Amino acid sequence: MTLPLETDAARSALMGRVRQRGTKPELRVAAILRSMGAHYRLNARGLPGSPDFSNRRRRWAVFVHGCYWHHHTDCKRATIPTRNREFWLEKFHANRARDAKALRALRRSGFRVAVVWECELSDPSLVEAKLSKILEPRRVDVP
Ligand SMILES: [Zn+2]
Repeated sequence: MTLPLETDAARSALMGRVRQRGTKPELRVAAILRSMGAHYRLNARGLPGSPDFSNRRRRWAVFVHGCYWHHHTDCKRATIPTRNREFWLEKFHANRARDAKALRALRRSGFRVAVVWECELSDPSLVEAKLSKILEPRRVDVP
């Protein structure tokens, strides 16, 4: 994920927050998807919001969201810098509005969409359960 950063101060504030221990969230989700036998495209630019993972034929898409940038609701990682608070609030609001718009557009086109939050990766089984819901189309019981 790359986003333009306005100032050096903003950049260093960001780097302090997003520095990861271990593997990047996207790589961890990729590993989970592979373990589930899913085939995917990365960052499909032709789809709304360029989902991190998607399969157009099977109609699913997955976004991996950093809790800070995408301002995960009620998440302790979704902090707001005290300096330039208004600027950041506006930025987070814009990010969330953009995310919601992409989700709506995908769902309108018949995609099943999952958002995996960075903090959820502390429990990979939860992420797997979330992904299995969109990877496996609902089975119709034939009487
Ligand atoms: Zn979170």
